[in-house]
Amino acid sequence: MVCKILLVGTGLTSAVTGSLLRKMCQKHVNLVFWDKAKEVGGRMRTSMSPSNSNSIADLGAQYITSTQENFTNHSDLYESLILGKLLEPLCSKIEGMKDLPVGTKQFVAPHGMNSLVKHFLYNAADEIHFGYYVVSISKQGKRWLVETECGVNDMFDVVILTLPVPQLLDIGGFIQEIIHKNSEMKHSLKSVTFSSRYALCLFFDSNFKFNPGWDSKYICDNEIFRFVSFDNKKRNRPDLPSAVVFHTSIQYGAINSDRELNDVKNELVCHVKEMFPDWPEPEHIECQRWQYSQVMTPYLGQPGCLTIEQHPLLVAGGDSFMSSHIDGCISSAFILADTVGLAIKKSEQN
Ligand SMILES: Cc1cc2nc3c(=O)[nH]c(=O)nc-3n(C[C@H](O)[C@H](O)[C@H](O)COP(=O)(O)OP(=O)(O)OC[C@H]3O[C@@H](n4cnc5c(N)ncnc54)[C@H](O)[C@@H]3O)c2cc1C
Repeated sequence: MVCKILLVGTGLTSAVTGSLLRKMCQKHVNLVFWDKAKEVGGRMRTSMSPSNSNSIADLGAQYITSTQENFTNHSDLYESLILGKLLEPLCSKIEGMKDLPVGTKQFVAPHGMNSLVKHFLYNAADEIHFGYYVVSISKQGKRWLVETECGVNDMFDVVILTLPVPQLLDIGGFIQEIIHKNSEMKHSLKSVTFSSRYALCLFFDSNFKFNPGWDSKYICDNEIFRFVSFDNKKRNRPDLPSAVVFHTSIQYGAINSDRELNDVKNELVCHVKEMFPDWPEPEHIECQRWQYSQVMTPYLGQPGCLTIEQHPLLVAGGDSFMSSHIDGCISSAFILADTVGLAIKKSEQN
């Protein structure tokens, strides 16, 4: 029998989980991915200038930092990304970066961070649907009935949720009853907290020689911005059109998280002009709100995966249950895939 599995989210955790399940279960699983977003990547989003397809920029995750231990534990996945030329060593200097333990490796994604997600997702998925905002998960017999805001619904044997926990808590239906009945789980879920940030990207059609003396840097003395990067230089592509990405500080994100996106965008653009009055006008500007940016308080014990219901199986994972970086997502994906794979084996034996 083929087990029909819904993976909610097309971020890194979901993509790696799908890829591991595909390897483990081959044709015994039907892997369906739904995401509320319009494109793949989640918080590893890569944006492209509408006027120049050579001009791309990472709006979320910027680069990869992997400790010796994590790199060894996840060596198969890293090898496949390096062999596929999707990861290269980080060569440009990032000013203000804290000292790293000996043996730590750092990488950039030359084609954008979302290329890492695509690598795993496209090899795993039977179906991918964007614009599917999951609003309700309920039991129907021995399966889950999952409904979206746009009126689509379907039945699944297993559901895997990889969204930030605050977004998981917004999903209605029977899932709410399960969580409310289990006070320990409810408390632990409600204790998960995230930072909020905005990303601003200025796309330039040509490669201006701005030469500010750095390629990327962490900013300590600015009331709005925390990080700035010439994205093309960061990705070891200095000759491509310049795209400059700014990330706001946690404090700015916290105070301004509910404002109109356009107001914030205008404020951020004005601030860049004050900081760099000599820069030319960009061809295109994009502003992204990351309401749930990086985990500040992860789920108690950082288990990697939470089984919300055993029969039928409903599990949650992602950086909320580990930590906000690539290895946190990969570790969670391994535990999610093992949990689901084991349940499928057991049900086949019965
Ligand atoms: C600004 C910023 C900078 C970062 N910098 C780094 C960095 O330099 N290095 C690093 O390693 N990590 C970094 N991170 C963290 C990293 O991006 C995340 O840890 C990782 O991408 C999380 O992946 P995920 O798959 O667990 O979750 P996500 O990528 O958030 O995927 C969850 C998906 O679920 C979808 N979704 C949510 N709710 C619903 C719903 N109800 N129905 C359907 N779909 C839904 C979302 O649209 C999303 O696509 C950064 C993150 C941000 C935001």
